[in-house]
Amino acid sequence: MVTRCTLCRRPIHDESLQRWCRCGWCMDPNCERNHAPFCQVNGSERWIGALEY
Ligand SMILES: [Zn+2]
Ligand SMILES: [Zn+2]
Repeated sequence: MVTRCTLCRRPIHDESLQRWCRCGWCMDPNCERNHAPFCQVNGSERWIGALEY
């Protein structure tokens, strides 16, 4: 079973390169850096009320 980067969808074969964000996303180190500025749980929880399902 291969874990895929949530951001770019590329498989992350090396477990040491998997970065689990607090929002539940699993990314490679590069994408984690790109994801950080718009992470939904980055420092606040106000996004919960903004979700539209
Ligand atoms: Zn990625
Ligand atoms: Zn995140």
